[in-house]
Amino acid sequence: MSNLLIKNARILDGDAADILIRNGAIAKIAPGIAAPDVATEDAGGSIAIPGLVDAHTHLDKSLLGWPWYKNDVGGASLTAMIENERNMKTRLGLDPHVQSMRHALKSVAFGATLIRSHVDIDTEGRLRALEGVLETAERLADVVEIETVAFPQSGLMIREGTVELMDQALAMGADLVGGLDPCGVDRDPKGHLDAIFGLAEKHGKGIDIHLHERGELGMFSMEMILDRAEALGMKGLVTISHAFCLGMPDHLRVEAMLARLAALDVRIMTTAPTSSPAPMVKQLDAHGIKIGAGNDGIQDTWGPYGNGDMLERAKFVGLRNNLRMDVEVKRALDICTGGGAEAMAKPRRALEVGAPGDLVLVDGETVVQAVVTHAPRRLVVKGGHVTARDGRTLVGAP
Ligand SMILES: [Zn+2]
Repeated sequence: MSNLLIKNARILDGDAADILIRNGAIAKIAPGIAAPDVATEDAGGSIAIPGLVDAHTHLDKSLLGWPWYKNDVGGASLTAMIENERNMKTRLGLDPHVQSMRHALKSVAFGATLIRSHVDIDTEGRLRALEGVLETAERLADVVEIETVAFPQSGLMIREGTVELMDQALAMGADLVGGLDPCGVDRDPKGHLDAIFGLAEKHGKGIDIHLHERGELGMFSMEMILDRAEALGMKGLVTISHAFCLGMPDHLRVEAMLARLAALDVRIMTTAPTSSPAPMVKQLDAHGIKIGAGNDGIQDTWGPYGNGDMLERAKFVGLRNNLRMDVEVKRALDICTGGGAEAMAKPRRALEVGAPGDLVLVDGETVVQAVVTHAPRRLVVKGGHVTARDGRTLVGAP
């Protein structure tokens, strides 16, 4: 935790002011702060926004640093993509620590200060991916906060031994229990959900489950998730990632489900996908449901897209949700900053006294202009530490 004085920043779209960070938290925001004992950075009138938050990614999967991957699998079959990835990881001998360092630092260069990473747990890679990502989290503790989810990417019930590995992963330090399409992948929703909720109960940890299942099938799985969250008193401890089924056209059905999600304080993580139905921000906001956003995997065997930039992701959230007014685009940014942190049950990243000293200086005319142009990042600060300058991290990637 560090001290830093930033001079002459525009606070979001407000007036120019100085920001004093002491012991890792914002201590004062005012014009003309004098703190001669503290290192100083001149913002030069650039815009200060809260630290960016990637609330859903996969640090162990990226092929960053490798020759460009030629994708011959496509997106028609989830099972084919899962098999292909597991085979490629083995064939290339990917080092999850090296890959997660490359990915995390790329995100930091764009302004990330907090990341939730799902990490593959399966009977081939076993716990290696988690070991690698936990090593990265430790090495980068002053640079970016990394939270891990033990994620049964290859299925839980269909691969014997995976539940036991998930149990070990949680004992090793994974922060949350992951899950994946209980019907679509495992074909055993009761078995899958009983297993992950059992692990959550045993280890006293929350759940973040990938739910790609669309339409009525997804709603069926979601009901089973909520039944267990309710029975186990897990209000505020369950997150559903993607939740494509909430983008189904049956308005009354979706509204009833949103009311139930809100009552159980279930959080929704979205990538604002362009190729799938998706939960809609305004509809979720009307129910007060906490929303985070993420880049998901970037440049991996699943697809060539993504670069780790959560400011760019804020633009995608805006585009996907038809957010046009300034106040709406700012909400898209909030989902990628403070709102995302709240959805992760972390302290809200905000430019206010008492908030974590995490912020990004961006060039731009206004906040909205910075979002739509994903403007250059001049400086990234985490807990009062400068972590990146002019798009380059201070810690080098392997
Ligand atoms: Zn994912």
